[in-house]
Amino acid sequence: MSQSTTMTKTTGMTIAPPLSPRQKAARSLVWAALLLAAPALRAQSAPDAAHADAADARTTDTRPAGARHAPYVVVDTGHTPAHPGATGASGRVEYLYNLDLSAAVAQRLRAHGDRVLRTSADGREIALTERSTQAPDADLFVSIHHDSVQQPFIDAGRQREFHGFAVFVSERNPHYTQSLRCAKAIAERLVASGETPSLYHAQPIRGENRPLLDAHLGIHRFDDLVVLRTAPIPAVLVEAGVIVNPDEEQRLARPDTIAKLSEAIAGGIETCTAPQ
Ligand SMILES: [Zn+2]
Repeated sequence: MSQSTTMTKTTGMTIAPPLSPRQKAARSLVWAALLLAAPALRAQSAPDAAHADAADARTTDTRPAGARHAPYVVVDTGHTPAHPGATGASGRVEYLYNLDLSAAVAQRLRAHGDRVLRTSADGREIALTERSTQAPDADLFVSIHHDSVQQPFIDAGRQREFHGFAVFVSERNPHYTQSLRCAKAIAERLVASGETPSLYHAQPIRGENRPLLDAHLGIHRFDDLVVLRTAPIPAVLVEAGVIVNPDEEQRLARPDTIAKLSEAIAGGIETCTAPQ
């Protein structure tokens, strides 16, 4: 019914009587005015800073369009089944949380057309340096973890005081600036999605005390983290949340939380690996 109405209207619009010479002249005047106004219209809708940056990025990339490669990302699942990292309040181990979230991140990146190499997703033992050096031609190495706190806090029943994400970079990585750029892009997306940064690792506690690079974004420097230090490419480690906190652990296990976190992390990766 609605389709036939539309067709009648369309037909009515396209069939027009022949124009008189005067009408033709008027029409070409209108076209001339529109053509003259076009640059002014373009100037009025000046692109914002973000668009200007995007335009710059396109012009500074001198490779032919066909040669621009899709981002290539190593998504590392922290720990292994045999050495599973922290233990959540429920007894479920960190490796399983890391596996779920890294799988979701990898899936999103692939859906965007990125090349993805996953390390430590198959359950076999793998050395830290084998993770970080497996793809020296990749654009980024990102290691996915879930956080804990030191045993005295757990023994004192203070687990619920700790929650939120933290992001780490190493100044010893040969691409520190780009690593930091990616850390910021990921953390910005996490904050925008409603996550809060944990500043636990920056506290003056023996074994923590990491230099805090950005309190608002939860970015810390951890120069000796092996995977970050030994990666020949930009590298970032993300602690997605604190699984020793029983409330936070329940939230981190939920599919909607995994979806939200993976969208934020993959979105940040897309931003920082986009051609500049
Ligand atoms: Zn871990």
